[in-house]
Amino acid sequence: MSTAVRPEVRIAERAGFCYGVRLAIDKAKHARDAGKEVTTLGQLVHNPGIKADLSDRGIRTADLADQVEGGTLVIRAHGVPANELEQVRGKPDLEVIDATCTWVLQSQKAARELAAAGYTVCIIGHEDHPEVKGVRSYAGEGHVVVDDMDRSTWERVPHTKKIGVLSQSTILPFKLEEFAAFCLRRCHDLRVVNTICPVTLTRQADSVVLAGEVDAMIVVGGKNSSNTKELAVKCAEVCADTVHVADADELEGEYREWVRGKARIGITGGTSTPEVDLEEVRDRIYALSA
Ligand code: SF4
Repeated sequence: MSTAVRPEVRIAERAGFCYGVRLAIDKAKHARDAGKEVTTLGQLVHNPGIKADLSDRGIRTADLADQVEGGTLVIRAHGVPANELEQVRGKPDLEVIDATCTWVLQSQKAARELAAAGYTVCIIGHEDHPEVKGVRSYAGEGHVVVDDMDRSTWERVPHTKKIGVLSQSTILPFKLEEFAAFCLRRCHDLRVVNTICPVTLTRQADSVVLAGEVDAMIVVGGKNSSNTKELAVKCAEVCADTVHVADADELEGEYREWVRGKARIGITGGTSTPEVDLEEVRDRIYALSA
C-alpha cells in the first residue's frame, strides 16, 4: 500500500498586498460604504477575486477619465498622468479620491524636480505600465523611457550634459545600477534617484531566502503584474524549480503532476496578490498531494 507524503509548505514571511494597494482598495470600499457612487480609474488590482468583490459591492471601473462624469472617482496606487488628474479634478460634479501610493508620488515629484533643474530624465521600467505613464508625464520634454529587459532600448539615452535617472518602483535593483552606470558614460552630471519601492525589496528578499530553503517555489499573481514577474525571475535564480501561477486553479490545471512528490514547497506572491490567494494555493497543494 502506498501512502502519499504531505509536503512541507511555507509561505514567505512578508507577502500579501502592499500597503499602497491595500489603501487604494480600502478608500474605494469606505466611499462605497458611505453610499457614494464609486468608480475607479483603471483596475485597482488585477486579482480576479478582489475585482469580483469590488464589482459585487457596486464599485465600477472606467478605463478613461472621459467615461466618468459624476460621483466619486478613485485614482489607483499606480497614479495617472498629470493631464488626466487635472481633467478629472476639473469636473464639477466629480469627487476625486487620489489613492496614488506615496512612493509613486515621490517618483512623480523627483521627475518634476529633475526636469525643472535641466536634467534629461531617463526612466527605466516598462513603457506601457500605468505607473511609468504617470511618472513620465512629469518628466518634461526630451525625457526617455527604456526597458529593463531590452538593452537595445537604452540607446534612447542621449549624449548630453545632465542626466537624471529614475526607475519604475518594482524593477530589480541591479537593473537600476546597471542603467545608472550606462548613463554615466553619456553625460557629465548624473543624478540617480532610487525610486525602487522598499516594500518590493523586502518582499524579494524574503522570497529569495525561502526559495533557497525549499525544493520548489510557486509565485502567485497576475501574469501582467510587473512585480510578480520580477519576483519569479528572482526566485528562479535561487530555486530552478520555480513556477508562476495566477491562482490555485491554474496550479491544479497546469501543475497537478508537478506538485506530486515534492518534499518542501515555498509560496510567495506579488504586491497585488492577497494573502487569501496564497493560503488557497497552499491548501490546493495539500489536496493535490493527498
Ligand atoms: S509596490 Fe510599493 S510603490 Fe507600488 S503600490 Fe505597493 S507600496 Fe506603492
